[in-house]
Amino acid sequence: MTPLAFDARHLWHPYTNVAKPGPMHLIAEAEGVWLTRDDGVRMIDAMSSWWCAIHGHRHPAITSAMAEQLGRMPHVMFGGLTHTPAIELGRKLVAMLPEGLDRIFYCDSGSVSVEVALKMAVQYHKARGRDAKVGFATIRGGYHGDTWKAMSVCDPVNGMHGLFRGALSIQHFVPRPPVAFGAPWPEDPAQNGLAALAQLLAEQGEKIAALILEPVVQGAGGMYFYHPEWLRGARALCDAHDVLVIFDEIATGFGRTGEMFAMDHAGIAPDILCLGKALTGGHISFAATVATAEVAHTIGDSAAGVFMHGPTYMANPLACAAGCASLGLLEAGAWRGQVAAIAQQMQAELAPARDLPGVADVRVLGAIGVIEMATPVDPSIAHRLAPETGVWLRPFARNIYAMPPYTITPEELRRVTSAMVALAGGAA
Ligand SMILES: *Cc1c(COP(=O)(O)O)cnc(C)c1O
Repeated sequence: MTPLAFDARHLWHPYTNVAKPGPMHLIAEAEGVWLTRDDGVRMIDAMSSWWCAIHGHRHPAITSAMAEQLGRMPHVMFGGLTHTPAIELGRKLVAMLPEGLDRIFYCDSGSVSVEVALKMAVQYHKARGRDAKVGFATIRGGYHGDTWKAMSVCDPVNGMHGLFRGALSIQHFVPRPPVAFGAPWPEDPAQNGLAALAQLLAEQGEKIAALILEPVVQGAGGMYFYHPEWLRGARALCDAHDVLVIFDEIATGFGRTGEMFAMDHAGIAPDILCLGKALTGGHISFAATVATAEVAHTIGDSAAGVFMHGPTYMANPLACAAGCASLGLLEAGAWRGQVAAIAQQMQAELAPARDLPGVADVRVLGAIGVIEMATPVDPSIAHRLAPETGVWLRPFARNIYAMPPYTITPEELRRVTSAMVALAGGAA
């Protein structure tokens, strides 16, 4: 059996039919923005391997930090033991996060960091005798991961988990913020969408532990960019109803939207923050849930005292070393100019797609470029074209999108945008 035949028969791939998996590229090597197939065919990773590889693949600063750590200590348990990579990564995170958001819980993946955040919120309210606060509020169009509680706060219709309705806890949904990023902000709450949240919290606030959402950019739920002012209003409403705010910055964190964090567009901070994906620059799975001292100490001073979560591979030293190196690259600061240049070039080069039949919208924010079609796009076309165009795209639903590594050159980015426009032209 060839390697690809074995793969097709025995290996599950994400959101893929295991009985009819379709074509697959066998990738032998990744470096910078380039993926190289086993037969030598090269493609630009316009997806940053699902938002992660912000500095490109196999960045020497990250791989050498990991190699050094591998030679010293790949892993030890985090219960009762600690290590320099965890401490150094913590220092860097505390320095770059908003003041007050500084109690860090390391975990394995984005979905787990969301589970941890939701559990923290419930345990916080229990510690204060608010036992009824076990539900969650969120906005439609969100995506927060594939584990059970995270699934329950994904969009119930388009959130990829509609199949599990009935098995998921019922949460409280309000419409997604209706005012787009960059559009004028109407003060009338009925128009700006805050009225729906105000009504929900007035009616159900007693039973709601937290509002969870992706600030400014909804990723896997539809690549939608909304007005940051909505977040400021939501923060105030939650404070008035004793509801915690959880920001899921797993996709948006670390410069992707043009600011270090998407919440920086609004100038506000949540009570609990989820980080993942680009935390290690796409080199190894890792995530973190960061809480305020108020949340951490309320849990700590309660009868239960301890927070009831502790993954086996918590604070894995290899992942922490990768995280330190990736954050070190961000600290050097080149990302801001790189992301701004990518945004400007994508604005200019995706604009012609607006005139193509079947294109519903074209939008760019930071290093995220989206061509939204009127009807769903068949991802297998992009898959088949990739070796020809030299660009790896993986459209989902109606969106042809790219979020390339920040290190992509203008020539490479031109290849990405022309592949996107060509796909939009052919897919119509
Ligand atoms: C990817 C993603 C997650 C889930 O992260 P995993 O590492 O895949 O578990 C959660 N929230 C958002 C916003 C994401 O983009």
